[in-house]
Amino acid sequence: MTTEVDVLVIGAGAAGIAAARAVRAAGRSVVVLEARGRVGGRVVTDHRLGVPFDLGAAWLHNAGDNPLVPLADQLGARLVDSDALRQERTLVGNRPATEAERAAYDAAWDDFATRTEARAAAGGPDCSVAEAAPRGGPWDATVSAWQGDIIAAAPLDRISLRDFADTALNGGNRLPEQGFGTLLARLAEGLPIRLSAPVTRLSWGGSVAVAEGAFGTLRARAVIATLPTAVLAAEALRFDPPLPPEVMQAAHDLPLGTVAKVGFRGADGLGLPAFTSVDRQIRPGEPLVAMSARPFGRDILACHVGGDAAAALEAEGDAALEAFMRAEVTRRFGAEAARTLRDGTIVTDWLRDPFARGVYSHARVGRASARGILAQPLAGGRLCLAGEACHARLAGTVGGAWWSGEAAARAALAALRQRSEATT
Ligand SMILES: Cc1cc2nc3c(=O)[nH]c(=O)nc-3n(C[C@H](O)[C@H](O)[C@H](O)COP(=O)(O)OP(=O)(O)OC[C@H]3O[C@@H](n4cnc5c(N)ncnc54)[C@H](O)[C@@H]3O)c2cc1C
Repeated sequence: MTTEVDVLVIGAGAAGIAAARAVRAAGRSVVVLEARGRVGGRVVTDHRLGVPFDLGAAWLHNAGDNPLVPLADQLGARLVDSDALRQERTLVGNRPATEAERAAYDAAWDDFATRTEARAAAGGPDCSVAEAAPRGGPWDATVSAWQGDIIAAAPLDRISLRDFADTALNGGNRLPEQGFGTLLARLAEGLPIRLSAPVTRLSWGGSVAVAEGAFGTLRARAVIATLPTAVLAAEALRFDPPLPPEVMQAAHDLPLGTVAKVGFRGADGLGLPAFTSVDRQIRPGEPLVAMSARPFGRDILACHVGGDAAAALEAEGDAALEAFMRAEVTRRFGAEAARTLRDGTIVTDWLRDPFARGVYSHARVGRASARGILAQPLAGGRLCLAGEACHARLAGTVGGAWWSGEAAARAALAALRQRSEATT
């Protein structure tokens, strides 16, 4: 391996891939050190069910303004407009919601948006999203569980309203036919990435940084570190000197929540059209399971649960998660339909993955400014942190991670230019 480079990128997820591509495009030398034996980080497509199944990110959110959309087009990767194709099925108990119930549910979504947006726009001290959200109506718990546990991966009483409003997604969703992980891996092709090379120590105090790990040592004139905030906070990588206290505080203030996914084959037996999203009215405190059935007409059912319920089930183990989801399928569609789900399921556990420690970040109440602190280049751009948590608008998404990686690359390249000017 090259032992001295212009830029070292730590992590080959979306931010790291974007950063490495930008550094290489500027004609500078770059090496990416990746802890896992694969690229993609929290974006990975699994084929154990016989078809592409994304264990992490699946959708290109904010499609109208997402850097991955034009890149997918350039590669000829097919994206479908999942919003246009989505069929919605909402249950009350095990029967479909009536038209009146469905209208009340839609109104509860609108009411949530109106009240949280109005409270955020009013300014004043930050509060939790839960404080601004409507409650007490027959659909409010269901909408709050969607917005919190499923979309933000954490309960709304722990999430900053300001950050929630700043990072709200809109602008459509696209689904890559061959999987998001497949797409990201193609964007990493040809980059100098060293796999299974976790960095355990980074000395960044001098003019040349030194990364150490079982791979040996690597010297670099600038470093872009793309570790998830929960991994930074756990101090699995030792920075020498330590990261400034305000940066470590920002990592702690942007914890990762969790969403667990269980993928089943045998969804054809449920009698649902392709691209059906199935949910159910819940009572306050009850976990919400969001199901995506038969994407692209495939014989697949993906079941999602998020927040504290997901964390508790992940702690119990894969068998408990699978049993929980099978029970929910039985409750919704009956025991006979549930029996059509075959064995050989896929169960994810991002919380226990040492290189992720969760799914995506939210800001703690009162700490929306943490994203800006984390994104500030250090040592004049010779050390930049990047990743989804650093993006002010598309935090929590692959698009946000991508843009944050590109921004870090610009800062690192500027630092290198300054340095060459100073020495000439
Ligand atoms: C279940 C789930 C569903 C999601 N759904 C969506 C979705 O539909 N759409 C969307 O846009 N986003 C979604 N996301 C979020 C999205 O996946 C992330 O925001 C994005 O992938 C983060 O990219 P990143 O580069 O910031 O971090 P990561 O992808 O986590 O990359 C960081 C990399 O650093 C590596 N690393 C860690 N420690 C070290 C070390 N010491 N040395 C070297 N390497 C190290 C890791 O292995 C990893 O590869 C989802 C995530 C999950 C988990």
